[in-house]
Amino acid sequence: MSINNSILKLLNMKDKNLNFTENFVEERNIKNKRSLVIKAFLDKKPNCCPKCGCIDNIKKNGTVILKPIKILSISGLNSYLEITKQLHKCNNCKHKITPQTDEVNYRCRISNNTKHSITMYAKETITYKFISKLHNVSDKTVQRQVNKIYDKDKLYKNYIPINICIDEFTWKKKTMAFNICDAENGKTLDLVEDRTIENLNKYLSYYLNENKLKVENVVMDMYKPYIKLVQENFPNANIIILTLTVKMRNPLFYIGFLIF
Ligand SMILES: [Zn+2]
Repeated sequence: MSINNSILKLLNMKDKNLNFTENFVEERNIKNKRSLVIKAFLDKKPNCCPKCGCIDNIKKNGTVILKPIKILSISGLNSYLEITKQLHKCNNCKHKITPQTDEVNYRCRISNNTKHSITMYAKETITYKFISKLHNVSDKTVQRQVNKIYDKDKLYKNYIPINICIDEFTWKKKTMAFNICDAENGKTLDLVEDRTIENLNKYLSYYLNENKLKVENVVMDMYKPYIKLVQENFPNANIIILTLTVKMRNPLFYIGFLIF
């Protein structure tokens, strides 16, 4: 195994376009902490120009050094990956091509390995503060990563009753929130804090399409943006508008008020 591959293994990274040269480890003082900086060169010759498709007129066009990316700590020291990228230019259309690596997302300064590790730790009963310290990231980064797991977990929302009721209420005494419930027993299925149409569309996208198609009736107050939302997400459902705001035991009792 080449030294390059061994280093990739040590870093638990897979991108073979990352090349480590002699003296690739440097000790630096970053944010007043003794840290390790691993220097790598990313050279990935593009097969063709992504803009004009030209294949034989692509030339090297200088390099750029990225700001250090946080990676998992090595030997107890905060560690960073500093990537120098080989840039290319298409001489046909003058398009500049910057290589990307799977080890870190575009414009992100935290490696994907680090994010994965945060996710793993977040499943344990330890504080976010400790996780953030351990990974040399802010509490907010940990929170964002945890929210992503929460978002993924929402994907299991495959059950939705055939008769639903949607409505709004005041959330934390200031903003309006969205409430979705089973129209037959009045049980709340979910509360959605952000009731913007964009967010509600995202929320409803977590439900399986085949189940949304089975929804027969949606009971709601008259609020125009919700009509479009319902028509798009529950194309087979009747929309039943309540003209009176009454505390309902069984909203289906009101079927017939107005059906679109
Ligand atoms: Zn081109």
